[in-house]
Amino acid sequence: MKVLKFGGVSLEGIKGIDNAFEIVKKESLKDKIVVVFSARGDITDRLIDILELARKGGEFRPVLRSIVDYVKDIDLDVNLEDEYSELLKILDGVSLLGEYSNRLKARVLVYGELLSVKVISSYFNKKGLVTWPVNSGKLIKTFNSYIDADVDFKASAPLIEEFKDEIKKGIIPIVTGFFGTNLDNEICLLGRNGSNYTATCLGALLKVEQVQVWTHINGIYTADPNLVPDATLIDRISYQEAGELASFGAGILHTRSIQPLTFSNIPVIIKNTYNPENSGTLICDTNGEKGIKALTLIKDVSLVTLEGKGLYGKVGIDGRIFSALSINDISVRMISQASSERSIGFIVDGNESKRAIELLNQEFEHELENDDISSISRNNNVAIVSAVGNCISELPGILTGLNKNGIKPLLFANSVNSRQISLVVEGQFASKACRIIHSRIFGMRKVINLVVFGIGNVGGTFIDQIVTNHDRIEEKYNLSLNILAAANSSKVKIYNSVPATDWRSRFDKNSKSGGINTIIDYVNINTPENLVFVDCTSSYELTDKYFDLIKSGFDLVSANKKANTREFEYYSKLRSLLKYHNKQYLYETNVGAGLPLIDTIKHIHTSGDRIRKIRGVFSGTISYLFNTFSSSDNKFTEILDNAVKKGFTEPDPREDLCGMDVARKLLILAREIGSEKEISDVDVENLIPNELQKYSDLDDFYANWAYLDKHYGEIKTSAGEKKLRYVGQLDENGKLSVKLLEAEADSVLGRLKGADSIFEIFTDRYEDNPLIIQGAGAGSQVTAAGVFADVLRIGQAVSRF
Ligand code: ASP
Ligand code: MG
Repeated sequence: MKVLKFGGVSLEGIKGIDNAFEIVKKESLKDKIVVVFSARGDITDRLIDILELARKGGEFRPVLRSIVDYVKDIDLDVNLEDEYSELLKILDGVSLLGEYSNRLKARVLVYGELLSVKVISSYFNKKGLVTWPVNSGKLIKTFNSYIDADVDFKASAPLIEEFKDEIKKGIIPIVTGFFGTNLDNEICLLGRNGSNYTATCLGALLKVEQVQVWTHINGIYTADPNLVPDATLIDRISYQEAGELASFGAGILHTRSIQPLTFSNIPVIIKNTYNPENSGTLICDTNGEKGIKALTLIKDVSLVTLEGKGLYGKVGIDGRIFSALSINDISVRMISQASSERSIGFIVDGNESKRAIELLNQEFEHELENDDISSISRNNNVAIVSAVGNCISELPGILTGLNKNGIKPLLFANSVNSRQISLVVEGQFASKACRIIHSRIFGMRKVINLVVFGIGNVGGTFIDQIVTNHDRIEEKYNLSLNILAAANSSKVKIYNSVPATDWRSRFDKNSKSGGINTIIDYVNINTPENLVFVDCTSSYELTDKYFDLIKSGFDLVSANKKANTREFEYYSKLRSLLKYHNKQYLYETNVGAGLPLIDTIKHIHTSGDRIRKIRGVFSGTISYLFNTFSSSDNKFTEILDNAVKKGFTEPDPREDLCGMDVARKLLILAREIGSEKEISDVDVENLIPNELQKYSDLDDFYANWAYLDKHYGEIKTSAGEKKLRYVGQLDENGKLSVKLLEAEADSVLGRLKGADSIFEIFTDRYEDNPLIIQGAGAGSQVTAAGVFADVLRIGQAVSRF
């Protein structure tokens, strides 16, 4: 035999009821069954409302009529007039007296179930089943309360014996959930959502093989799927674990509803009326198995804090707090006190916090006056996130994950058996905290949310590289690179998805105007986790916004050199803010594009080696110009023209020739090893001869640029066998210079070819033979790859790959 229970939402409309019909029919062909129904939809709530309306003397008749009409909308032939009149009589009485008791409340609320069972049973019969409405007041005996009664198994047993005989006759009983009667035959409710309890008690009394609870969700999840998209369905869970989840707000069955089954070991399966194919969650005796892990969230709670120097070492304060509250029926959910005893914090239900504060103010009146207690306060905007199951070993990861995202737990507690950890967080961070903790305890996919500013050569190629590599990275490292948004200088597009090949056309279509503030507003509202801002612009103004970005929770990756070459005051302010917020700022592509230069220098420096000198050809563009010029007979302008046409230079080649780009790179390296110099301290030799510097217009420059051939022709001749190289240098005294030099043909610099960059690093350890880093130091593919590598470095901190 089986018990099948259907919840209110399952029976709300015709679709659910028809599904319930098919389920009942199918099960009844296999086995003897007993069906239990809740009240359809939200009728119980509407009956509570109507009672209040009557109490206040309001016009309740039309409301009552609409309730009755709603219940019978699936079968208009059913006559509910007797029930209507009885309810009317009671409500008239309430209206007259202006009050009602719990006893009376119970008498009214049971009509939700009574009417629903009567109508649906008739509807099922018309569709070809043979069912029979049963009033649970005749089967289930209760004690203790009119509205939250317990089931009296002993007294119910003989009634159940008679009921068994009826079931054997083959008619399907449809029993009202939610209530029974006491020994005086008065109606008593089993508490809100009590129909589950009806079903499990009947199951235990009838010693059935299984109880099926048909709801509107698939079963019990590892977290609320509305908060945590990665949550998964738990297929099997023990009675104890299900009870634990329930008491932390994630259960479908209350602990009390599970209890009757644990003694006789009857399994319960949670199923979805709207998705009957889904296997659901089985609650049974799974002793010895690994055990589940799940995450629950409790909102509507309040954090109460007592603080003061007088709390230290005093005996009895805690006792007084809790007895003042317990005498007044206020239950405390969670407590935390550090060993200094200077403060104690605990959680109470939100609607009781005001009274709790009043009671504590009374209790500690004396201590408050003496200043032994400095404050008694409450914070209503909090939530409890609990990790249930064996999660304690994940604690470091959980705390790091929260910290990385700027969430500081206000209170922390674990159960003594370590089967549960609870954290109190600010209400607005609750769902973000759930996602972070969930991904930590399940070692699940981590998401990095990227905002990419600048989608030209470098930024655009970077996104393309993600498109190509996303799936592989996700599969291998459990890390998903989500493009939250991308922007160019005038428009922003929120994608919030993994990028696809058509990201460019989608940008053109749906982007809106607005800059960085659009993004900051968006993340403040939607609280995505693990934010990384990628700056692929060369904008100076954007670097002003880095501070706001850091405060909003972003790590930064930048191909933009401006932030690192601005005034030193900015440079160091930025770094202290990063430190304060525990954020990373990576910019490997600032010098030598994707070459692993900054990272290498950083490590040499931190490991205690002294960098004495750095020398090299820092610009790929200028490397190409002089490498070609020195080793061919071509004129300087021919080579330059060719480079401009191939896009090797900036659109205005003078930006390369003026040497400032090299100067910036040099300054960035110098600051990396502790220099506090400014860009104006770099001694730069401008490659544009004085004679040409007077033309501000680009066309004028071109018209006269033949002068370059004369100028560099002479320099080349005087260099003889030596090669011309444009060299950036940080020397032993910390002096920074950028100069056109002559290098021996067989020296490291002299042998340079193509558009390679080269960096020679002389240190105490690399004494005579410098460390040399050489390779393509420009180009969108290698630069984008360098940006990508920086993003993955941040990903490593998130995903531990
Ligand atoms: N109808 C009752 C309630 O809404 C009992 C139940 O749904 O289980 O609380
Ligand atoms: Mg319900």
